[in-house]
Amino acid sequence: MGAHNVESATTRLTSLLIDDVLAVDAGALTSSLSLSEQEKVTSILLTHCHYDHVRDVAAIALSISYFRKTIRVYSQASTLDAISNNILNGVIYPDFTEIPAPNPPLKFCPLEPHKVEDIDGYKVLAVPVKHTVPTVGYQITSGEGKSFFYSGDTGPGLSACWEHISPQLLIMDVTLPNRLEKHAVSGGHLDPRLLGEELVGFKETKGYLPPVVVIHVSPMFEGEIKEEVEQVAKQLGADVTLSYEGVRLNL
Ligand SMILES: [Zn+2]
Ligand SMILES: [Zn+2]
Repeated sequence: MGAHNVESATTRLTSLLIDDVLAVDAGALTSSLSLSEQEKVTSILLTHCHYDHVRDVAAIALSISYFRKTIRVYSQASTLDAISNNILNGVIYPDFTEIPAPNPPLKFCPLEPHKVEDIDGYKVLAVPVKHTVPTVGYQITSGEGKSFFYSGDTGPGLSACWEHISPQLLIMDVTLPNRLEKHAVSGGHLDPRLLGEELVGFKETKGYLPPVVVIHVSPMFEGEIKEEVEQVAKQLGADVTLSYEGVRLNL
């Protein structure tokens, strides 16, 4: 639904939707979905507490409250606490995990890294990645065994992460172009060159490299990032492409 780190008339914040029901990150949940589509969402997985990934938890809560149903929101306890303390705190917005009773629209469900959870028929594995606040990526596997890994926001240093996953598709943070590598690293993000290094590590560890889709792209540098991603794809002989709003990825 959203493939960028900056919102505008033509770009939305990072957000994925699986089979119309399971959302991953909530940067574009309400702006991308009609009310009846929002009603179909059963669960939301959050990678971390940054605003561009969590803000539509509050927005969809209000829509859902009219339907008298409850969406489950999964993340590490520290991420859920940050939302409770700073957004759904009765000041910025109501605590939608409690009101309106008896059917509050949200239920917060803490999860732990490295423990497979069954969520709506999907096997969900949270794996810590490298960002400026506690962050997990998710490997999500369907009942038919189709799987992908979404990194959330991450900087370099993913070798430990690769040991825990074997996805058929990688969806990876690439926020800035190579010339702004210092800023990418200090913000806990990758650029195309750093992504290339991580993908080499993936191939060495796992013995294969699945298709890679790049997300969280800064629209200010999109042309430059696209060219550099194409170079990385060529060097690795790999399928690495940028994602865009509204693109459907079929596994
Ligand atoms: Zn972040
Ligand atoms: Zn972000």
